[in-house]
This record gives sequence, C-alpha cells and structure tokens, in this order.
Amino acid sequence: MAMACSGHIPAVTQPQPRTPPLACRSRKTLSSRLRFLREDPAPPRRLRASPIKNAPFARRSGGPAVVAMAKPDPLRIMISGAPASGKGTQCELITKKYGLVHVAAGDLLRAEVAAGSENGKQAKEYMEKGQLVPNEIVVMMVKERLLQSDSLENGWLLDGYPRSLSQATALQAFGLQADLFILLEVPEEILVERVVGRRLDPVTGRIYHLKYSPPETEEIAARLTQRFDDTEEKVKLRLRTHHQNVEAVLSM
Ligand code: ADP
Repeated sequence: MAMACSGHIPAVTQPQPRTPPLACRSRKTLSSRLRFLREDPAPPRRLRASPIKNAPFARRSGGPAVVAMAKPDPLRIMISGAPASGKGTQCELITKKYGLVHVAAGDLLRAEVAAGSENGKQAKEYMEKGQLVPNEIVVMMVKERLLQSDSLENGWLLDGYPRSLSQATALQAFGLQADLFILLEVPEEILVERVVGRRLDPVTGRIYHLKYSPPETEEIAARLTQRFDDTEEKVKLRLRTHHQNVEAVLSM
C-alpha cells in the first residue's frame, strides 16, 4: 500500500525513476510581477521523482508496503535583467523563500578583483568599460560555484549569467540548466536614475538610493560607497551591452 506524502504523491521503496534530464523540463519566462514573491506560505516543494507510475507495480507484486518520503528536487533558476532592474531585491526574496544559493556572476567577479587575482586583474579591465568579461574567466568561475555542495543540495538562483548565447551553451554543455528563466523588464529611463543614485553601505551590505531609499542616519550616509561602474557614462554602456545580449539568450 502506498501512502501519500506531503506533495500528495505516493512514494514506495521500489527503484525510483530518475528525474527526467533537465533539458526535457519545461521552461517558462515570467514577467517581473511574480505572484509567488508575495509573502504567502511556501508552496510544496517538487519531488525528485514521480513514482506514481511504479506504485501499481508495487501493489500488484504484493511487495512490502514500506513507504518513504521522496527527496525534494532542488530548484534551479536563472534571473536576468538590466543594471538596477531590481535583481538584487528579487534575488533576496526568492532565495529566502525557496532556500536557494544565490550565485551572482558580478559578485564572483568583484571578489576576484578584490582578491587581486590574475583573473580579477583581467576582469577589471572589462568591467570598467561596462563590457562582458571573457568567457574563459566567467564560465569556469560560475560552473565551479554551481557544482559546490551547497548549490547541488539546495538548488541555485543564478544572477547575471548567461549574458550571451555562448555563455548559455557553455553551461548547458556541463549539464547545468535552469528549470526557470526570469527576465525583469524595466523602462530604461528609470534604470539610469536608479543606478546613478545607488549606494552601498560597506558595513551592513545594504543598498540605498540617495533619493528613493536614503540612509537613515548621518553616520550611515558618511560611510556609503558607490560602485565604480555606477556612473551615468558607464551604465549607458552596460545597458547597451545588456540589450545586445538578452535577445540571444532568450532565443534559448
Ligand atoms: P550589472 O547587472 O549592473 O551589470 P553585475 O554586478 O551583474 O552588474 O556585473 C558587473 C559587471 O561584471 C558587468 O558590467 C560585466 O562587466 C561583468 N559581468 C557580470 N556578469 C557577467 C557575465 N555573465 N559575463 C561577463 N561579464 C559579466
């Protein structure tokens, strides 16, 4: 006898079918107004395998009626959007709600720059011009992060990658593909204003905007820093690069 588990899908001790290859899963593109980001209770997690097809076999064979909970299948999401489109905010909400590991290509690159590594030195030259860092650096960096145990176990939210068709295919070649691709769309005139006024509190990591989300105290205001590429000149270059690449990525 099979028993329903929390996802209402019976699970038995018969050999479990593997999850279908990632490439076979359905993918959807959503708008930025995602209803699932509201503070409603988390929906039931998907299950690694759907043993419904096997359950009648278990009953017919008169086999043991031992029932096990199926392991949740970690969710893999990619999120894309122009600079200051709100990826940071959405990523915080999504990772909190689904317990995913947030992997941001830009953060990985900035960590390399800060560490003064050879990759970081090369990457900085491109980042300063608002251009894409070469794939030789970015692809391996992202791949290694996604293959770390926390990402494998909990699932991931990949932010700012892929930004070109070649980056998408490169990751796919390693068997890393998302279940869902989210694209945030924001009018361009709003983006420039948001970027130019954006500031970071290096102590708390909190992002402020001088006009729309000003710091609470003089003390915080005095220590705010600005990203070196958050200038009007550089954001325009970054926006151009973004638009050039997003269509190619969406075609996949
Ligand atoms: P933004 O979304 O505002 O561009 P990010 O922090 O995501 O900010 O990226 C900062 C910079 O890092 C980009 O302008 C680009 O130079 C580089 N970068 C980030 N992600 C990638 C990527 N997937 N491929 C190549 N370069 C990247």
